[in-house]
Amino acid sequence: MAIIVQKFGGTSVGSLKRIEAVAEQIIKTKNQGHQVVAVLSAMSGDTNRLLNLAKQLDANPSPRELDMLLASGEQVSISLLAIALIKRGYSAVSLLAAQIGLKTNNRFNKARILDIDTTRMLTELQQGHIVIVAGFQGCDDEGNITTLGRGGSDTSAVAIATALHAKECQIYTDVDGVYTTDPRVDATAKKLDHITFDEMLEMASAGAKVLQNRAVEYAGKHKMPLRVLSSFSDGSGTKIEFSEQSVASHPVSAITAHQDEAMLSLVGIAEHGRVIAMLFNELANADIEVDMIVQTALSAEKINLNFTVHRNVYQQAQLIVAGLNNVVQIDALSGNDRLVKISAIGNGMRSHTGVAASMLSALYDAGIEVYLISTAEIKISVLVKQQDLTSAVQVLHTKFELNAKK
Ligand code: ASP
Ligand code: MG
Repeated sequence: MAIIVQKFGGTSVGSLKRIEAVAEQIIKTKNQGHQVVAVLSAMSGDTNRLLNLAKQLDANPSPRELDMLLASGEQVSISLLAIALIKRGYSAVSLLAAQIGLKTNNRFNKARILDIDTTRMLTELQQGHIVIVAGFQGCDDEGNITTLGRGGSDTSAVAIATALHAKECQIYTDVDGVYTTDPRVDATAKKLDHITFDEMLEMASAGAKVLQNRAVEYAGKHKMPLRVLSSFSDGSGTKIEFSEQSVASHPVSAITAHQDEAMLSLVGIAEHGRVIAMLFNELANADIEVDMIVQTALSAEKINLNFTVHRNVYQQAQLIVAGLNNVVQIDALSGNDRLVKISAIGNGMRSHTGVAASMLSALYDAGIEVYLISTAEIKISVLVKQQDLTSAVQVLHTKFELNAKK
């Protein structure tokens, strides 16, 4: 008997009616002879509602207390689902993270999972029970409740599936799979039946919001097969496979847009080796993720540096740069927080050349200004103005022939 982990997101459990539909879905899987562990998000809107309550009291609420508060949303959804299953004659048990020994570090609001004790879950499964676990939450060494960051139940599900050696981790959501691009940005987007794990990882980190990127990283590291599918309609969704060597006939599989980019520009940095080491150390200490980094020579002694961060840490990053400017010499500082990153992703880039050239010429022909370019093995990203997002995505989606055939 195989264990299947099924994760249901906020909209999938957004009302009692939806919770009853999820109960039916789980019963279907159980009746196919599987042992089912469901991992749930809070009912949609709940986490935001709780966050707003806290923010009305304090714009910067205590991180520990915020986690205590936010984690309560999942306690509601898991117990309601268990009630619905029990009413239907199935034995089910809802469990909080602490009850399954889901240990994290003590970074409140963005904790990382360290360990999961499977004893309780396995005992429940062996007794024929459906196990329902609160996603998004954990528990640190001192017994404090932690949360994994917004969207963290995906990671909970993958980590639980890995710990249980599940056959598959199914992420049920409100879309029926992973698309060639966001259908709201380009209506010709089409669903992908399979993508490689590497592509999914790049898509998540490049802005496709289907899965939390930590979840994808975790799944890849542990080779946990994933499937994204809809809890609103039937279908086999998108399977995330591990055939890294697969030779694709097409260079690009998807176009993604990452909305919230901010670029910081440092012009004329002397002593750059030392300054850059200091800068990126300080950014790392402040937990600021740096994405694109481009360094160019200005003169024999000086360089320019451009890098991007998430828009919501733009000011924090600016403060760090300004602080550094007090101790070292930088000629000028500037920035722009109205930018977006558009990426073309494809395993086929491993075997196709000229992808960057096609991409840049298509953007140029469309009159779209490109600020920064970065390339990776299976991804090419460009930084463009926020107002160019839609046209850039559409131009590239068409250029790489991703449009659904009519
Ligand atoms: N309920 C949490 C959130 O809204 C976690 C999740 O849904 O994955 O971010
Ligand atoms: Mg989510």
